[in-house]
Amino acid sequence: MQRAFYFSMCNLTRIAPTPSGFIHTGNAINFILTYALARHTNAKIELRIDDIDQNRSKDIYIEDIFETLEWLRLDWDLGAIDKNDFLKNYSFINKQKTLFEAISSLWHKNPDIFYICKCSRKKIGGIYHGDCIKSKLKLKKGESALRLHIDKNTGITLGNKYIDLYSIFGDIALWQKEDFCSYQFASLFADEKHKTNLIVRGDDLFNSTALQLYMARLFGFENFLKTTFVHHALIFDKSGLKLSKSNSSSALLSWRKNGKKPNELFQKAAQMMGVREFWKINTKEDILACGNELELFLKTNGQRLNLA
Ligand SMILES: [Zn+2]
Repeated sequence: MQRAFYFSMCNLTRIAPTPSGFIHTGNAINFILTYALARHTNAKIELRIDDIDQNRSKDIYIEDIFETLEWLRLDWDLGAIDKNDFLKNYSFINKQKTLFEAISSLWHKNPDIFYICKCSRKKIGGIYHGDCIKSKLKLKKGESALRLHIDKNTGITLGNKYIDLYSIFGDIALWQKEDFCSYQFASLFADEKHKTNLIVRGDDLFNSTALQLYMARLFGFENFLKTTFVHHALIFDKSGLKLSKSNSSSALLSWRKNGKKPNELFQKAAQMMGVREFWKINTKEDILACGNELELFLKTNGQRLNLA
C-alpha cells in the first residue's frame, strides 16, 4: 500500500541551508515544506548548515538562519541549537579531515575512476573533460584537485527524466584545488552517514540529486540509494528570476525588522501543496492540519531511484 510505504520509509530529513547570504522567501518555503513533510511522516529533522564553502560562509548568515527558523516557529530534533554551538560542534571546517579520509579510501578502492588535476578554474572555464587523466599526477593538497572521471554516455534516470551526467557535470572535483571538499561529496557523505532518507529540495537541485545518486551507487552508499526525494517548484521574483541569496530584496531580514509575520510564506507553501483554501493557512499548526494534502503531495512528488 502506497500510504504505508511512505509512512514507514521516512526516518530522517534535513533542513540544509548554506550560510552564504540572508535567507530569502524561497529558502523559507523549503524549510516549511521540509518541516511539514517530516512532522507528517514522523521523520526526525536535522538542522545541517552547509558551510563547506569557507570563502562565502559568514557568521551573520549563520545567525540569520537561526533567527529565521525561530521567527517561523519551526523546531528541529538534531543539529546545532545556536550559532556558537554550530561553530564549535557542527561546522564543516572541523570535518575536512574526515571527508578527506573518506574520499581517499574510495579513491584507493577505485583507482581507475579518480585522477589528479592541476588545471586552474580559469583555464577550465566550465565543465572539465580534461587531459590530466593521462598524466597520472600526484596529489599536492592546495595545488591540485582530485577528480571523479565521468565517462561519455553516463547518466541516471530519476522518475521519467534522464540526466546526462557527462554533459552536465563532466569530471567533477570531489576534493577541490583550494584544499576543501566539494559540496556534492560533503552533502552526500553527511546524508549517508546520518542515514537521511527524506530529502526535500528545490527543482534547481534535480541534477545534483542525479549526480549524488550516481556516486552513491558507485561508492556503495546503500542508505542514500533508498532516499525518497521531493523536488519542489522554485519561487521567482517579479521579473521572473530565480531568487538568490545575492539578491537582498527578498531577504526575510527586512520582514522581521518591520515586524511582519511569516503568514504569507505558510500560505505560499500550502498553495504549493495543493491546499484549496491556502489563504487560511498562517502557521505551522495550520499546515500540519492539512494531512490529506501533505499525503498527496508526498505521494505525487516523492521519487526514489528505480534500482531495478
Ligand atoms: Zn587538469
